[in-house]
Amino acid sequence: MTWAAISTWRMSFKGLKKASKLLQEQQSAGDAVEQLINDVESFPDYHSVGYGGLPNEEGVVQMDAGYMDGDTFAQGSVAAIENVKNAVSVARKLSERKTNSFLVGQGATKFAMQNGFTMTNMLTKKAKTQWEDRIQAEKQENLVPYDGHDTVGAVTLDQKGSMVAATSTSGLFMKENGRIGDSPLSGSGFYVDSSIGGAAATGLGEDIMKGCLSYEIVNKMGEGKSPQQACDESLYPFINKLKEKYGSVGAISLIALDQNGNFGVATNVQFAFCVAGTNQTPTIFVAEPEGNKTHIFPFTQKWLEKFEAETHIPLD
Ligand code: ASP
Repeated sequence: MTWAAISTWRMSFKGLKKASKLLQEQQSAGDAVEQLINDVESFPDYHSVGYGGLPNEEGVVQMDAGYMDGDTFAQGSVAAIENVKNAVSVARKLSERKTNSFLVGQGATKFAMQNGFTMTNMLTKKAKTQWEDRIQAEKQENLVPYDGHDTVGAVTLDQKGSMVAATSTSGLFMKENGRIGDSPLSGSGFYVDSSIGGAAATGLGEDIMKGCLSYEIVNKMGEGKSPQQACDESLYPFINKLKEKYGSVGAISLIALDQNGNFGVATNVQFAFCVAGTNQTPTIFVAEPEGNKTHIFPFTQKWLEKFEAETHIPLD
């Protein structure tokens, strides 16, 4: 039977490989997506997700995460949660509830503590130093919060045909205390319907939320569009509209997977993503916008060297 997984950013490659193994062994889409995202959350050198994530302007790491089951539409989310190693696992646990399934701030942190999730100080020395440097820089220049985008978002399809979508992020570096982006919001940061497909987003949450882009993609796939068509048609016209109406648009990248394991991507910046499936060995691709379409090519040696020079993290 067909299985597949897609995830945002090169940092998710190892997690995607772990998820692929689970899916090959007929494990569930939920376990696979959680494993994929936990892998990124636990790695201290990724500065936009989980442990080692960059803090808000008060020096506190506040994380957002979401989880959705495409069979039942069960959803769980946490936002501005603190001191929790794996925010997406807390979101998954919350998805088991009929009510109170989206918790924020202290309530979310308390729930994690009471339910036995691993609690730890998420601010690494390296992240703290970056925060201190930034405070210094802000004193000299008038800087706005960093709007780079690096949420880990993923969609998985298991051999039973079940699909799950999930996200996890520490959000924007230097965001205000309590700021929440698109990532924990169903329909914006993620959405999935196992009878159609799923989608997830990364980028400037404030702008992604204006278009409910993950829902939009799934809706278009439901009308018969391929994942690639659905991504292109959800993103590029929306960007033009937002420029017109609002005057600006931040970085936005979208991934999608349908119930047959086909994938699609659209982005307004250069964006790396990972894919694996029955007929696709785990691969990192790069996508970039080309008019109203998306140009996709494999992550080359040149890209790998550039990436490693920037992050100092070897591929394996
Ligand atoms: N979407 C995330 C947010 O706005 C940021 C990101 O993807 O980097 O919080």
